[in-house]
Amino acid sequence: MLDDVFCKIVSGEIKADIVYKDNDFWVIKDINPQAPVHLLIIPAKHFTSLEDFMEGENDGLLGRAFVVAHKVAHKAGIAEKGYRLILNEGEDGGKLVPHLHIHLLGGKKLGPKIVK
Ligand code: 5GP
Repeated sequence: MLDDVFCKIVSGEIKADIVYKDNDFWVIKDINPQAPVHLLIIPAKHFTSLEDFMEGENDGLLGRAFVVAHKVAHKAGIAEKGYRLILNEGEDGGKLVPHLHIHLLGGKKLGPKIVK
């Protein structure tokens, strides 16, 4: 386990509001929600970035992240009306936590812009 906040959540060192968990993924509520539903899909194993992810034997894991995202969107009651998935990568992408994760946002009609 590394020192980032999501590794600390997976190891139990930091508490989080967990909405879904399996062997490969955790889904938690974002601590600073930007929409009525704002969840984070987090691989339990540490990957810093997509680059890092591509280097290992991780066949199918990224695809499964999207299946998990849709599953939790259903669970949150927003699958039918829709939601947005965002993956921030690197400094220009605005990534703050160096542990690969996907944002799931919804629960209201989101604006047309994804960049500001
Ligand atoms: P990034 O900019 O890296 O894509 O987004 C990181 C996200 O993690 C942010 O939306 C931030 O609010 C969330 N976050 C940071 N620290 C914590 C934490 O300790 N707990 C939870 N639940 N979310 C966090």
